[in-house]
Amino acid sequence: MISTTTKHLNFHAVPDQRFLILYTGGTIGMRVNDKGVLEPFDFDQFVDLIPELQQFHYNFSVCSFDQLIDSADMDATHWLRIANTIAQNYREYDGFIVLQGTDTMAYAASGVSFLLENCKKPVVFTGAQLPIGAIRNDARKNVISAIEIAASRNNGVPLLQEVAIFFDETLIRGNRARKVQSTQLDAFRSENYPVLAQAGVTVAFNEAALLRPQGEFKVYAQLSEDVVLLKLYPGIRANDVACVLNQKTIKGVVLETFGAGNAPTNSDLLHTLKQFIATGGVVVNVSQCHGGQVMQKLYQTGNKLSEIGVLSGDDMTAEAAFAKLLFVLANVEKGDVEKCFSQSLRGEMG
Ligand code: ASP
Repeated sequence: MISTTTKHLNFHAVPDQRFLILYTGGTIGMRVNDKGVLEPFDFDQFVDLIPELQQFHYNFSVCSFDQLIDSADMDATHWLRIANTIAQNYREYDGFIVLQGTDTMAYAASGVSFLLENCKKPVVFTGAQLPIGAIRNDARKNVISAIEIAASRNNGVPLLQEVAIFFDETLIRGNRARKVQSTQLDAFRSENYPVLAQAGVTVAFNEAALLRPQGEFKVYAQLSEDVVLLKLYPGIRANDVACVLNQKTIKGVVLETFGAGNAPTNSDLLHTLKQFIATGGVVVNVSQCHGGQVMQKLYQTGNKLSEIGVLSGDDMTAEAAFAKLLFVLANVEKGDVEKCFSQSLRGEMG
């Protein structure tokens, strides 16, 4: 069970807007201790380290995981917790800032995007490459820009009505993002979809690229745990794949294939995948390339996958496809899985 504590920062009697900052851990909230080692610090000190918060005419609440974690330790239960916290506070706040480690942020933002249907309020994930407790850091700037973005409105209506990642200077749709840098400050990219906003001297939104959800807001409370992400490599052996797929618990596989969706035509490998599909498993094809899309019918090597019932992941990132399969397997009737997976649910494909 993931427990959280909330602290309210009521700076203004009549604030323009109210934001919930959900702090989960990661580099952003660390400081260098006496021994020169990075350690998480208590988020009570958040306001001291970002005094600019008081200059906004907003009130904030900070809801912190009681056990702060490196995002490498996050799994779908943490994404459910984040989505649920947002849903429980959806009416009360004008927007949500999620602070977490960057390593698995693209997975988390994808997962949360599927869990929140028709989210008409801004949900901005951010983090940092350098901790907020360091003299030179990107944390402060990222948090302040994320708040400014979440607060951006047009005639009282939030400009951002979806789950996004703000990092360095760009706002990217969460389920289009990939972490591409472990040392430079521009850690995230979206190869297959335009950035949603660019933060230079002003924050310039790309309005044509923003989602405009129409229906009722809804939160989902389940994600499957039975999906594996399998990257193909030259010489991959059917037996090794079979060892993974033959486990009874596995219901879905996201296959990271070569180029435009190609896999070796080794008949044992294809047979293993075919058997898995025949017993009700779902196999999805995404490319190892960062840009472009899967075209299963372009080469014989991809067409063979199509013939045995592998679904095309189109231009989805592996992170989005993985989160989407967790979502679809847990929330859609068996007969509708293929149809649901093959359409864009939250702007993640096409
Ligand atoms: N390992 C850290 C994490 O993902 C890195 C970061 O915060 O950027 O939690």
